Amino acid sequence: MSAPPLALSFVKSAPKVSDLPASKSEVAFVGRSNVGKSSLINALANRKQLALVSKTPGRTQMINLFVLPSGATVVDLPGYGYAAVPTREKAKWQAMIEGYLLERPSLQMVFVLVDGEIGPTKLDVQTLDWMFDNSLPYVVVATKADKVRPSKRSGRRQQVATACHLEEDDIFWVSASTGAGIDRLRGHVLDLLAMR
Ligand code: GDP
Repeated sequence: MSAPPLALSFVKSAPKVSDLPASKSEVAFVGRSNVGKSSLINALANRKQLALVSKTPGRTQMINLFVLPSGATVVDLPGYGYAAVPTREKAKWQAMIEGYLLERPSLQMVFVLVDGEIGPTKLDVQTLDWMFDNSLPYVVVATKADKVRPSKRSGRRQQVATACHLEEDDIFWVSASTGAGIDRLRGHVLDLLAMR
């Protein structure tokens, strides 16, 4: 059975976790800038510009909160690793992201996006290692699956899994462009957010 699009509504952008309203059940999406996070959130919701709100100047560096009709919530964390950003700013973002991840009791799962075309960057692997060290629940989503040629897919799946220290089957491969893998990921998000 196919999963319905996530009926997400934007709630607010906040500079720190303590500014967010409480939630019973939440999942978060994180990844370096340009990994395809906005495109994926739009695809999950089947909306063209939902995550645009997270891209409006001033909000790219914020924690963006969305809610489902059930009251469960979805968070779009700021993209990390912008090359052109001064070190002090980077440290600030890192503190914001880490603060959120460590201080959100409702957090069920963190979806860490890596670019399926180029594989995880050093910073992606550092992020994954940090989550593992802090016993955070996470799953890797490889984006832009359509950009990997069919003849290279099986090798690439193995490469990405090895680089992330995971098994091949643990990684969700998706394409916001073709819709591949989106249904399965929606189903997983909805299962995780089921309000008990
Ligand atoms: P964000 O910065 O992580 O929010 O990334 P965006 O969603 O803005 O995507 C960055 C770039 O990658 C844009 O040019 C998108 O059109 C492109 N992109 C995102 N997802 C896909 C995908 O599944 N397939 C392809 N081919 N391009 C994608």
